[in-house]
Amino acid sequence: MAFAAGWSVDVQRVVIKLGSSLVLDAQTRALNMPFLYAVSRDVSDLLNQDIQCVIVSSGAVGLGRPRLGLTASGLTLNQRQAAAAAGQTVLVQGWERAFEPHGVPVAQALLTYGDIERRRSWLNARSTLRELVGCGAVPVINENDTVSTEELRFGDNDRLAARVAQMISADLLILLSDVPGVCTADPRHDPNATLIEDISEITPQIEALAGGAGASGVGTGGMATKIAAARIAGSAGCTTLIASGRVDHPVMAAAQRGGGSCIRPSVDAGSSRQAWIAGALEPVGRLVLDSGAVKAVLSGKSLLPVGLKAASGGFNRGDVVRLDDEAGQMIGKGVVGYDVEEVRRIAGLKTDSVEAELGYRRGSAVVHCEDLVLAAPAKPG
Ligand code: GLU
Repeated sequence: MAFAAGWSVDVQRVVIKLGSSLVLDAQTRALNMPFLYAVSRDVSDLLNQDIQCVIVSSGAVGLGRPRLGLTASGLTLNQRQAAAAAGQTVLVQGWERAFEPHGVPVAQALLTYGDIERRRSWLNARSTLRELVGCGAVPVINENDTVSTEELRFGDNDRLAARVAQMISADLLILLSDVPGVCTADPRHDPNATLIEDISEITPQIEALAGGAGASGVGTGGMATKIAAARIAGSAGCTTLIASGRVDHPVMAAAQRGGGSCIRPSVDAGSSRQAWIAGALEPVGRLVLDSGAVKAVLSGKSLLPVGLKAASGGFNRGDVVRLDDEAGQMIGKGVVGYDVEEVRRIAGLKTDSVEAELGYRRGSAVVHCEDLVLAAPAKPG
């Protein structure tokens, strides 16, 4: 894929985080629509290259404050939450407007720390986001500040964006703000500061530089949270680009060498996930596949309900199960998308009959191809 070729990153799914200092106009504190339009143009170009895009947008608190007359400098947590609620509607309307000329649907998703840390809601959020990007929509995510409590909140969207990147197995996380990237010193105070373009490892020196850069004026995330975000993303095999959004094509420019700092992941994406699935020592359950499904799965496709003969074990959605052929030979392991009772009810059904049986449909796959590790390598077919 051409995008981020300057960094030789093969990108299929990207999470783009935009800080309040870009989303809001520095003078008027209203939405910075030229910036939103610039991002929507770049994102539409990426969608046209079949690259799925998720936006994590800050700005709700900043937009809500003047609407509620909360103009004093410090805000209590409750005031912040109220401001976020009043500003989020304006924020998402801005994104709607920005994407309208491109005919791209925008979908709002507000997440809390708990949603991401609790397995069940994590799985639900992941399926919803996957479904949205699969439909060509652009999810616009923010922290659900209204219900987040002081102890259990991200507080900054850098780490939220990194957790989202991890959740949806993105290959690239782009953090855009008003700073050019990781520099040898704080560029706002030191004219000799130079950009560190390529960071292959987050060393204590890099951490120290990040600590020195401090937070920008409007958002809550400084360089330290960006490095923390890069660490989270990197542990899932996702590359992070930290760049300034104050350029013509903010998203595209970040993907060029010299457009910012590129932080390499600490592990390879596919391998970390696959190792996690393959390393599940004791799969909690077992699915038996008919010969058609075995063939499909062996050629890299997802497991659909129609190819299921039986299910055993007390597994829940999100557990690792083994996939067997009818002779009892294990062909792989995977993360199952339904609970065992649900699987028993939908086994053998065509995908479009699943909803009639269950009253809902979680997705077309019982085990998604990205959540599957074969006992032997996939054969093209
Ligand atoms: N969720 C906050 C907002 O939308 C932003 C947090 C941050 O600046 O990172 O205003």
